[in-house]
This record gives sequence, structure tokens and C-alpha cells, in this order.
Amino acid sequence: MTTDNTEDREIEVVHEPRPPRTLVAVVGRPNVGKSTIFNRLVGRREAIVHDEPGVTRDRHYALVQSLGHTYTVVDTGGFDPESDDPMRQGIARQVQIAVSEADLVVCVLDAMQGPTDADRQAVKLLRKSSRPVIYVANKADSARSELESSELYRLGLDRILPVSALHGRGFNALEDAIVKLLPPQTADLAPEAADPALLRVAIVGRPNAGKSSMVNRLAGEDRMLVDDRPGTTRDPVDTIVERDGLKLLLIDTAGIRRKSKVTKENDTVEVISVLRAMRSIDACDVVVLLCDATIGVAEQDAKILGLAVDRARGAIIALNKIDQLDSSTYKKLEQDTRDKLSFAPWVPIVRTSALKGRGVGTLLRKLAEVQANFRKRIPTGELNRFFEKVLATHPPPTSGGSAPRLFYITQAEASPPLFVVMSNAPAAVHFSYQRYVTNQIRKHFGFEGVPVRVAYREKRKHKLGQR
Ligand code: GDP
Repeated sequence: MTTDNTEDREIEVVHEPRPPRTLVAVVGRPNVGKSTIFNRLVGRREAIVHDEPGVTRDRHYALVQSLGHTYTVVDTGGFDPESDDPMRQGIARQVQIAVSEADLVVCVLDAMQGPTDADRQAVKLLRKSSRPVIYVANKADSARSELESSELYRLGLDRILPVSALHGRGFNALEDAIVKLLPPQTADLAPEAADPALLRVAIVGRPNAGKSSMVNRLAGEDRMLVDDRPGTTRDPVDTIVERDGLKLLLIDTAGIRRKSKVTKENDTVEVISVLRAMRSIDACDVVVLLCDATIGVAEQDAKILGLAVDRARGAIIALNKIDQLDSSTYKKLEQDTRDKLSFAPWVPIVRTSALKGRGVGTLLRKLAEVQANFRKRIPTGELNRFFEKVLATHPPPTSGGSAPRLFYITQAEASPPLFVVMSNAPAAVHFSYQRYVTNQIRKHFGFEGVPVRVAYREKRKHKLGQR
């Protein structure tokens, strides 16, 4: 073991730009090839958000970089578990969601089939909306099938792009068309976003959890920006708040305030809340997941928190509406929350009542702590003195005859923290040992509310000089 080779670089904590909140939704009836199109669009263009794989991989949602633009693609059909049932108005639901939340809709038709009733329905709904739409005829695998797709013009459309998701035909044209119709991009370029003191906070959660009430509590009613103009409703409006010496940028307060009017169907409203959470999570440093304490934690909450962890964002769970609970019910609820969200035991839980203003101070203090943890940088010397003790107490187990050697550790990044361990055989470091190291880092340095990522990289022996 040596620490001689470590460069003790003091890297400035950078306030990384966040991707623009642009959403492209893919809609279409079952079996037209939406997910194949989604996969091909995402393909190798998927933005590498992080080095380390997260806990969830939502294959209906991905950040894409293409032709100088960054946008999120969502397969809206992926939210329709029952969409294989032709009797369900699955397509109407998808279109409603897309029209409500997306900047651009890609409507997928089937080149090998003439227009169906579901297609007609989709086109009718899309035409009524003001969203830009690109129509594609998928399964145009050959020039002949491309010709057959002309049947689809009976839907009365001006332009249909023939593509083959299977073979990749037509995808250059599709990507061009997408980029042309996207709104101008300003990647998190609001001048205030460059302020390093600012903490970007996304308040997320299911409908009626109390998000707008909490935003009002944090911001004060008078500072709320309400934007009800039709057509501009998707434009994210953030609010800057200064409370107790903490400067917060509350992400997409307009979206939080905006109740989904598109439908009375509850599950559609839920899906819309997840989509909004996705966009806000991409734009933030710390996620505050608000849960309705009178209902408890639901699968949607786990899904939203999973996305935050996957994106390596800081997180706080606020159990809201505690004015409705007695303390023994609360204790049970907290335990239940821990059980259901056991994949992220490092997320602090605070109890709040947005209605009565209780716990708001605690939430602000937690935000300040999580902010400090998020940005924390452990000097390399200190880190390695700790690491040597960890290795001495519990050396890496033998694998295939010899134990992998772990030479040293550095913190390569902050906001969020990323540690890199150099080893002669990174692939041989067992998962359970990796977890042990991560837990020791957490325990020793205190990273409450922050995802700690540890990567293992190869360093060959001869590079180690004398050793
Ligand atoms: P959102 O959909 O998450 O933005 O939720 P709202 O902020 O609109 O709140 C939904 C409902 O819950 C409203 O009727 C609020 O008055 C109520 N509410 C919000 N926070 C609390 C709370 O802490 N306690 C109680 N009892 N009700 C709350």
C-alpha cells in the first residue's frame, strides 16, 4: 500500500450545467414498434449521465444527445401496461399525456398496415393540440414496403417519414426532423443558475402529496409564479427563494402548481406526475420527495426516488400532512417508509405539515446539510489514511487464487461525490466488498442524503514506480 503516487489535486467544486428540460414523447398503438424506435433513437446517443450503474433503468425514458441537442425521449406506451388490450383507450391516454407534457410528439404508424381506427383517433387528438408532431411509418424495411406505407396518407397527413426501427432506415431524417422542431435550447443557462451558492431543489411526489402547498410555504404565496397561459404551460418556471441563509432554486414551480386538467383519470395524472418528476430531477441537485403521510409510500414514490438515485441526485423524503397523524401511527409509517425505500437507506426522512407550516425549518436545515454533503470534498491524504485502516481491518477477499490489490483512493468528483479506487484487478473486487467500502466511506465521512459512487479502475503494477 502506498499513497505516494496520489496527486493531491484540489479540484474546484463545479456547479455542473444541467440538461435542458426538453421532452420528446413517442406515441402509437400497440405493436407498431414504439419501443424499438425508442431504443434506436436512444441507442448510442444516450448521454452518459454517470459512470456507475444506478439502481433502476427505466427503459421508457432516456436522455439523448443528438446533433448538438440534448433531450429526453419517453416511450409513452411504456406507461400503459394494459395497452395490449385493444378495447382500452390506451392511445388516447398516451396522446393526452404527450400533449400535456411533451415539447414534441413522435406518432408511430405501421407501414405494413393501412390506417386503423386507433390511428385515426390519435391523429384527431394530436391535430387538436398545438404540439408539433412528427408522423413516422415504421416497418418500412424496404423500398417496396415504403411504397405500401403511402396508404397511411389516407389519414390526411402532409408528411409521413418512412423508417425501419429494425434496420435503422430513415433515422437520420427522423433525428433531423426532431431537432428542427425542438424549442430553442438554453441548457440551464438562466444566469442565476450559475451562482454556485444556489441549491437546485426539485420538489416531487404524487398528486395531492402537498407539493404546491410546500412550495408556497417555502416561497411565500406572493412569490409564486403562476403561468396559466395556454401553449406556454410546459415552459418550466423556477423560483428563487432565500430562507435562513440558504439560497434555493425551486425547479419548475409552474409545473408543480399546474394541476393536470387533461383528464380526470387518476392513473393518467399519476403518470404525468412521474414525467414531471423526471424532468425536474434532471435539472436539480437535491430531490425532496414529498409523500402523503395519510396514505403512505406507494410504488410511484419508490419509482421517483429510484430515478433520483439513478441520476445520482441528493435526496430527502418529507412525510407530509403529519398534522393528521398521532405519534404511534407516525412511527409505523416511518418504518414502513424505510422498508419500502430500502434501496436508499441514506436518505433522511423529515416530517412536515405544509398546511400548518410545521417541519419546514427542519426541512431547510436538512437541505443545507445535504447541500454541504453533496459538495463535500475529502482531501486525498485524509482519504487514504482512512482507506488503509479499512483495508487493514478487512482486506479484500481472495478471488481466483489471489486477492485483488487496492492501491489508493481519490475523490475524483464532488456534486455528487465520486471516488475512484485504483487496483491491479478492478474486476476481481467482489460486489459485497465494494459495498463494504462504500458503507465505510459513508460512515466515516458522513454523506447523509447523498449518493456515494465508488469506481474501481485499473492501475498496473509497473506504473507504481519502485513498488
Ligand atoms: P400537490 O398536488 O402535490 O401540489 O398537492 P397540494 O399542495 O395541492 O395539496 C393537496 C391537498 O392536500 C390540498 O387540499 C392541501 O391543502 C392539502 N395539504 C397539503 N399539505 C398538507 C398538510 O401538511 N396537511 C394537511 N392536512 N393537508 C395538506
